[in-house]
Amino acid sequence: MPPETPGERFDPLVVLGGGYAGLTVAQQFAHRTRDRAAVVVVDREPVHVLRTELYEIGRLAAAGRDVAPWTVPLARALERPNISVRTGTVRSIDLAARRVQLEDGEIAFGALAIALGSEPAYYGVPGAAEQTHEVYRLSGAVRLAAAVRAVEAASPALPGERRPRFVVVGGGSTGTELAAELATVDWAHVTGVAARPPEVVLLTGSLPFLAGFSPTLIARARTGLRRAGVSVVTGWNVRRVDPGRVELEDGSVFVCDLTVWCAGLEAPSLVRQLPVPHGPGGRIAVEPTLEIPGHPGVFAIGDAADLRDPESGLRVPGTAQAALAEGRAAAANLVARRRGEALTPFRYRERGAVVALGIGEAAGAVRQLSLGGSPASLLKRLVQRDYARSVERGEPPSLI
Ligand SMILES: Cc1cc2nc3c(=O)[nH]c(=O)nc-3n(C[C@H](O)[C@H](O)[C@H](O)COP(=O)(O)OP(=O)(O)OC[C@H]3O[C@@H](n4cnc5c(N)ncnc54)[C@H](O)[C@@H]3O)c2cc1C
Repeated sequence: MPPETPGERFDPLVVLGGGYAGLTVAQQFAHRTRDRAAVVVVDREPVHVLRTELYEIGRLAAAGRDVAPWTVPLARALERPNISVRTGTVRSIDLAARRVQLEDGEIAFGALAIALGSEPAYYGVPGAAEQTHEVYRLSGAVRLAAAVRAVEAASPALPGERRPRFVVVGGGSTGTELAAELATVDWAHVTGVAARPPEVVLLTGSLPFLAGFSPTLIARARTGLRRAGVSVVTGWNVRRVDPGRVELEDGSVFVCDLTVWCAGLEAPSLVRQLPVPHGPGGRIAVEPTLEIPGHPGVFAIGDAADLRDPESGLRVPGTAQAALAEGRAAAANLVARRRGEALTPFRYRERGAVVALGIGEAAGAVRQLSLGGSPASLLKRLVQRDYARSVERGEPPSLI
């Protein structure tokens, strides 16, 4: 590749979102251009949120307001000569005029990476948005942790043998991790009173449980949930949610102290509204190179993008692992685009997956290896710690 011309002035690359995809594309682009090209990273938060760790409701409940362990300041993670971080909420994107409208101003871009992640999808289920908790944002996880803590702290005064009851909606990895976590945390230790262990119900809905994961991992997860004492209810979607009550489409009703919605994600509304091709959940249907069709130099990556792997025909999953891989590939293609070179199609290779199944337990499938119990849990913790450390040091992070 020809080197960047020293001192050449570049239009800025604007990166929207400082999550897994945005952080990676910014860092890798800066690395590939030897810090000569200007990059602006915009996020509504001044921190990179370790979103893959937001199922840790027990630790969050114990931590109270100290959420530092779940974040890395973006200014530190992106401390490079030509990267500036701007804290602000993106309101709209004008692809034709190549401008981004923020709450408090406007930024013109030469090239753009849309990495705005995803938000909960409620599918029009009455009460779901208003009456449930979520763990997709740090603020949501903190609110849930405080609510669970309050219910548990009050549990010694419940009549008779009654225990707190939590309903988790969604049979993907987030619902599974969260249900197991709620069921296995030592709430008496967290609250400092004789809190009663909760009853946890996981409603997996009509989709297959842990769709997309290996059969061995699924079998281990079922065993793990049973051991954790989680009741798993399959087959029916939620019809409506009212305060303290979840109703399924077959008419069955679950009375509970709180409900958590882990039933799916969609692109943020500003992404759904862009005049570009969209896939399921309003994700941007990108070219195999991750570029948006008809908009050279504009890429969508991470949860906000929709792409089928051309070889396998499978959709690239909405995971942090995929977001990091797309961030790296988009950085290479952004550089190719500004040098007038051919872009390279993105190929996704899954490294593996580990699903937490409560305190000290997990199920994993890494390459040909199937892992369970405490070795899988240890691996998950090590991977999470390694990721956070790499981000803090501004090194290329990886994840499974
Ligand atoms: C509990 C939980 C556990 C998970 N576990 C795993 C796991 O083990 N492995 C795995 O690979 N994946 C896991 N995931 C999925 C993973 O977290 C996501 O796929 C990943 O975060 C997607 O990265 P992203 O960069 O696309 O989006 P995000 O990481 O969500 O980043 C999007 C960024 O955009 C910012 N933003 C959004 N809207 C605006 C706006 N309008 N203006 C300004 N900024 C905005 C946000 O603040 C955020 O920083 C998990 C998710 C959850 C919730």
